[in-house]
This record gives sequence, C-alpha cells and structure tokens, in this order.
Amino acid sequence: MRSSPRRWPLHPTPGELESMSSWLVRIARLYGARVADLLGPNLGAIAQHSHVLDEDPPPEIFTVLSERTGVGVAQLRAMTLSGWVPWLFDAYPATQRDADEMFYTYVRQDSVLLALGEATQFQVARHRHWRGPWIPAEPTTRTCPLCAAEFDPRRALYWDLPLTIGCLEHRCRLETGGQILAAVMKDEQPQPVPITGPLAVLEGYTHQALIGGQVELPGRTVHAGIWFRLLRCLLDELSLALTTLRPLHARHTLEQIWAAAGERERAGITVWAPYENLPWNIQEKLLNAAAVAIALAVQRRIIPRGSLGPVLTEPAHAPVYDGDAPRPPQRRQDRLHRSENAPDLMTGVNAWINAWINAARSDPEPARGMLRTLTALDPHTDIAERRRFLISEIGIPPEFLTPPNTPTNPGRRPRPPYTRPVMRTILETEGFDRDDVTREITLFIGELRLLHGITDTRRYRFSGDDLEQLRARLSL
Ligand SMILES: [Zn+2]
Repeated sequence: MRSSPRRWPLHPTPGELESMSSWLVRIARLYGARVADLLGPNLGAIAQHSHVLDEDPPPEIFTVLSERTGVGVAQLRAMTLSGWVPWLFDAYPATQRDADEMFYTYVRQDSVLLALGEATQFQVARHRHWRGPWIPAEPTTRTCPLCAAEFDPRRALYWDLPLTIGCLEHRCRLETGGQILAAVMKDEQPQPVPITGPLAVLEGYTHQALIGGQVELPGRTVHAGIWFRLLRCLLDELSLALTTLRPLHARHTLEQIWAAAGERERAGITVWAPYENLPWNIQEKLLNAAAVAIALAVQRRIIPRGSLGPVLTEPAHAPVYDGDAPRPPQRRQDRLHRSENAPDLMTGVNAWINAWINAARSDPEPARGMLRTLTALDPHTDIAERRRFLISEIGIPPEFLTPPNTPTNPGRRPRPPYTRPVMRTILETEGFDRDDVTREITLFIGELRLLHGITDTRRYRFSGDDLEQLRARLSL
C-alpha cells in the first residue's frame, strides 16, 4: 500500500509517556525546522505555547499529526493531559465551577488512613485558585539527568506534575533546572540520585498505573484511576493538623508515619492548602511520607482505617477447613458409662448433627438452615461471625451461605434501586463481612465513576444487577 503523500518522511515513534511538545521538538529537529513551521499556518500559532500543546490542544491537531506520522489519534491524545481523563483527572481542564465539589469528589470521596468523615473539612474555594488535582499552582520544570544525556532526549508528560519524585524509567530523582544549572556551572555532569526504599515501591505503583492502567497492590489489583485517587487522598490526610483530628488512633497513626519518615508532622505546613498549591519541597516530603505510610501498612505497623485502606494490606489468612481429625478410639469405660446413662439419646443426637454437617457441606439448603438455627439460638452474635464459623470450623463452602435471589422474607426486603447504606445493610445481613462489603462497594463506585463517567456518585442508586455483581465479587 502506498503511504499517504501527506506523510512526513521522518517521524520518530513517540517515547513511553512522552509529552506532545517533546515529540514535536524531536521531529522538528530532524528537519532543522521550528515546531510552528512543522504544524503550518493554522496550527503553528499554538506551538509557541508548549503548555497548550501538552495540556488541551485543539482536537484538529491530532487528526493532522496522525495523517503526517501514522501514529493513532488515541496514542497522540495520551501525550496530552486531556488524554489522561478519566484515569488521572475527572475532567481536564476542570470544568466544575465549584472547587469544593471538585475537591470533595476526587480527594475526599474515599479515605485511606482515616475512617470516612474523620478528615478536617475545608473550604477549598477560599484558597488561592485551585486548578484541580495534580495541577501545580507553581509549575516546576524538572528533568531526568539520564534522559537528558541520551542522544535524542525526550521529556515525559508527568515530569511537570507533582505526581512522582523520580523518572519512572531510570528510577532516579528528577532535578529542577536550578539544580542542573548549578552542576553545569561547576563544570560537572548532573549525577543521578537513585530512588530507593519505600518511595521506589510507591513510584513502581504509579508506573504500573500510567503504563498498564492497573496496579497490583498488596490487598488486590486496582484500576489506575483508583490508585491516583488513593494516592491523592493519602497526601491530603498527611497534610492535616494532628490537633484537629478527634480520634486518638488517627493522631497516633499520623505521628507514627511522620516519626518513621524522619520529618516534622505535616511536613512543616502551618496553614492548610490543597497539595497542588504547596511548594515543591513540601510536596516532595508529603510524597515520601505517603511511601512510608504504605510501607507501614504493608508491615501491619499501622492500620489504615479508610474505605480504601484494605487494598494496601494483604488479606488476613483465611482459615480453610482441613477435614475432621481422626477420632481416637473411645476407652471401653467411657463407652460403658455413656451407654449406661443415656444410651440412645447422645448417640442419636451426635449421629443427627454429623448427618446435618455432612449434608450442609454438599448442599446449600441445609447450610443456610444451619446459619438460621445458629442465629435463632444466639441473636446477639454478629451474623458475619457465625458465617465465618460455619466456613472455617465446619467446612461449609462460602457460596452456600449466600442466600438465593429470593429473600427469606420478601415483604421486609427493600426493592431496587438501593441507596449506598441500604446496599451495605443488605449485604451485611446476608452474612458478608462488614469490611469486605465497604471495600467492594467503594471499589465498585470508583469503577462506575471511571468507566461510565458518573460524577455524582453520592446520588448513585444501585440496581438489582449491581447487587448480583457485588454478591458475586464478595463470594470469590
Ligand atoms: Zn530518565
């Protein structure tokens, strides 16, 4: 097939995570031209402003560049910030007029270290103009010394965001222009400073999110969008004043993190501001503390109590029924004693219970009957605890203890659509663990937001299908 006559003869492939302006500069360099000349009279004007090229360029630029280079429009869009909606941003540029709504939707909808609602409330709109999550109020141009030393140097799009401390490819610190200039003035090559320890783990997660769209966290694999919101929420929690937090455990957790990070609490902030509006040296300390917090959670030295907390810790080992222990042969005297006192009754009850247990291990109906009986015998014990007992101690398959679609008492069961609290109650009443229910509903809501663009998830109503899906996930 003949290539299009409009195709440029030389067009290097875009690098991984490379920004649009960086790629165009590389192409222009091949022709000894300016980017503005390359784009022609109609689009050339915007090339004067590289931030426009990398943020939200007019859509026609993608069509033109795709024709000239053969690179797909989707790949070209991903080289701009607007192409990172909905993974990294809910919208770009932020369209919501209300900064508070934008902040509380992205940052506070979930929680990590603190239980939901424990974080101090602020009026974000009162602060200096906030452009949305991850967009710094003061742009800092940072560069990777190893990328810069390559033959055809490239710039990554995320370098200008306070999302990482290091280059995700070379795993070394990104340096500011001032730091590089200082090295050059001393006639030195800027030396790469490796990213190590907990920060390397955190930045590894961000790399997975940007490259693969999902992140393998210790508790479970999550969508990239969940990871970015989790990280942004964690940074916010770390920026809170300890004295404003009521629960003692919340203060203690933050104290522990700052002590382990070797920094003053709140990275020395005295007046709260959204993360994006803080200076880079403070953002860097907060990112380091977030990495320490994740490491402490993995080691179970802190308990993240937030709705997203469980994804940071490995699930506790679930005991599995490993069969009945062989019964020791009864002593003759015991047998005699029993047979003398209650010969038929005990033998009969034991045989009946054993038969019931055997049936419940292979048939859901007797299994559910057993759960109902235990509930009737002791109404004070949590149903989740009884369910756990039947699964781990008696060896009943967990899926048997999920009730069938028809509720036992249809008159009392609310009909769909369900609100979030009603959904939680239904699932908890069905015997699912409370923490598991909270976690799955949170993740489910996060996915709705990302995959279907539902922004006001607080008003979302769950359908019967949603209930089925959540039941299936919880039974895994
Ligand atoms: Zn690099």
